[in-house]
Amino acid sequence: MAVRSVDELLQLLQIDPAMATIRPLQSDFPLRVPHGFIQRMVKGDSRDPLLLQVLPLAREAEEVAGFRQDPLHELDTMPVPGLLHKYQGRALLTTTGACAIHCRYCFRRHFPYSDANPAPGDWQPAINYLAQRTDISELILSGGDPLTLTDTRLHSLTGQLASLTHLSTLRIHTRLPVVLPARIDSGLLSWIKTQTLKLVFVVHCNHPNEIDNSVTDALDKLTAAGVTLLNQSVLLRDINDSTAILARLSERLFAAGVLPYYLHQLDRVQGAAHFEVGVERAREIMTGLRATLPGYLVPRLVQETPGMPGKTPL
Ligand SMILES: *Cc1c(COP(=O)(O)O)cnc(C)c1O
Ligand code: SF4
Repeated sequence: MAVRSVDELLQLLQIDPAMATIRPLQSDFPLRVPHGFIQRMVKGDSRDPLLLQVLPLAREAEEVAGFRQDPLHELDTMPVPGLLHKYQGRALLTTTGACAIHCRYCFRRHFPYSDANPAPGDWQPAINYLAQRTDISELILSGGDPLTLTDTRLHSLTGQLASLTHLSTLRIHTRLPVVLPARIDSGLLSWIKTQTLKLVFVVHCNHPNEIDNSVTDALDKLTAAGVTLLNQSVLLRDINDSTAILARLSERLFAAGVLPYYLHQLDRVQGAAHFEVGVERAREIMTGLRATLPGYLVPRLVQETPGMPGKTPL
């Protein structure tokens, strides 16, 4: 289902590895990209904005000052393994380390999931913590990608959450509706139907070319099932660092029933320095978006700063 070999990927895209300015790197965060996502890339284009999100490059090995393994100090904010409680009223559970796609800019690319994850099937320590914190009304499932969990695991997790009557909202941070829309199948929709918490999916889409009919269909099914849909993007150099591209992204998302939520300034994780867009340029792009789009289609430009009570607006 997913391609994991650089040679195979370049072959599918009819890109000559010798001709392209690509120097693949052996990495402990290997290439992984679903076939359906590859089909949305332009053949023969080694600078395709979807390809650049997934192709390992030799530049990732460059050491750049300020780019660290755990830029958000997340390991310091876990009251129990796998549960991040940084912001008031919300807690974030890293349910799995698995993703359907490996995004090269990912701030969790060095995350030691094996230490941070609850043991398979053992959500109990996190549930116990949540049971005591009646000030938490929203639980965010993150990862990795929580929708890589089987439906059975999702049912068992939300079954355990049922005892937490102070929870009102279950939010899911997932890239799967975009990169593997087939995951939004009848089994998942049945799970959604059984939920009593308000469901919010924050999908993750960086470029309008990521949205084809298969994605729109999946998003329509989620809307029909009553899920609130928001999007977060990461601002990425040479991929979406332009007002025109981000305006088109917002419009396509809206046509698919999704409102833009956050545009993240890149987290400074080791290996991702070549994706960074300077803050000044980011602000220019935002000014352009505000001049182009209705206010509800303008995402909030934010940065995550360790120790702050929420994401920092820029
Ligand atoms: C981003 C994040 C949240 C959610 O923040 P919102 O501003 O509500 O989207 C919650 N917890 C952690 C640890 C986060 O990183
Ligand atoms: S889907 Fe999200 S968590 Fe997974 S690699 Fe991409 S950015 Fe990281």
